[in-house]
Amino acid sequence: ATPTAVMVGTGVGAFQGVLIKGGQALESAHKVNCIVFDKTGTLTIGKPVVVNTRLLKNMVLQEFYELVAAAEVNSEHPLAKAIVEYAKKFREDEENPAWPEAKHFESITGHGVKAIVRNKEIIVGNKSLIVEHSIAVPIDAEEILAEAEGLAQTGILIAIDGEVAGVLSISDPLKPSAREVISILKSMKVRSIMVTGDNWGTANSIAKEVGIETIIAEAKPDQKAEKVKDLQASGYTVAMVGDGINDSPALVAADVGMAIGAGTDIAIEAADIVLVKSNLEDVITAIHLSRKTFTRLR
Ligand code: ADP
Ligand code: MG
Repeated sequence: ATPTAVMVGTGVGAFQGVLIKGGQALESAHKVNCIVFDKTGTLTIGKPVVVNTRLLKNMVLQEFYELVAAAEVNSEHPLAKAIVEYAKKFREDEENPAWPEAKHFESITGHGVKAIVRNKEIIVGNKSLIVEHSIAVPIDAEEILAEAEGLAQTGILIAIDGEVAGVLSISDPLKPSAREVISILKSMKVRSIMVTGDNWGTANSIAKEVGIETIIAEAKPDQKAEKVKDLQASGYTVAMVGDGINDSPALVAADVGMAIGAGTDIAIEAADIVLVKSNLEDVITAIHLSRKTFTRLR
């Protein structure tokens, strides 16, 4: 393609809400034959909501949520925000919930949080966080977790003073276009893969809904990047689509990193292409544009 064609290509992209940071990114996109998608906020809407609460101890919901929210209000994680939002319903003044003080707050990346609230040790997170603290996960909690995962929801365990006191189910539905985008990519001979920090059960259910066969769950940020490199080593030209801080190593490693416009600044900076309108369809727009620019003049 001539420099003019590349300029026109990036210009058309910008007009359609696909911000391409340079000619190299536009060129690489036409060779992409494998796309690695992040789950939360990329394939899903990314606005999780609490849909179910099950108490396993004899305590009132109001007190339970007071303790949980006091811990989670210190976390930036989308799941933490969903929990705090829900917990407000149990406060007298929703606008000004005034949570009790949390001492010794700790955020355990990819697992959850812990803190001391009203002299009780509160742990909120996934099963491995509970197990790592040598706390037994009762059968009924296991059952509730499995049920949530089967419904493509994320189950969160809450331990109070070393005992599992409750389980929350949090739902973050697929973006309405996700399934169709994956199916169109398939018809374009582009393979789709999903990577997520979420657990295997939930990840499997979401993958089934969206029509993706290959997934990696419980992935740390560097494992997302490793997966990209593995695919490149087996001959694929790889695009990564993500929105989070934890996606940025993979966005950098990919031949083409694509950030969701509504994502974090760090992801947008790490990417070669920004999907300004946050529409998943624009992954296809970007590839089409590149194919047009680079296969016409040869
Ligand atoms: P994702 O890619 O889904 O954003 P993360 O690596 O951020 O995944 O987190 C992985 C898992 O750790 C979450 O699905 C959740 O089970 C648990 N987790 C992480 N942070 C929190 C938190 N603040 N509160 C509760 N659970 C959390
Ligand atoms: Mg994400």
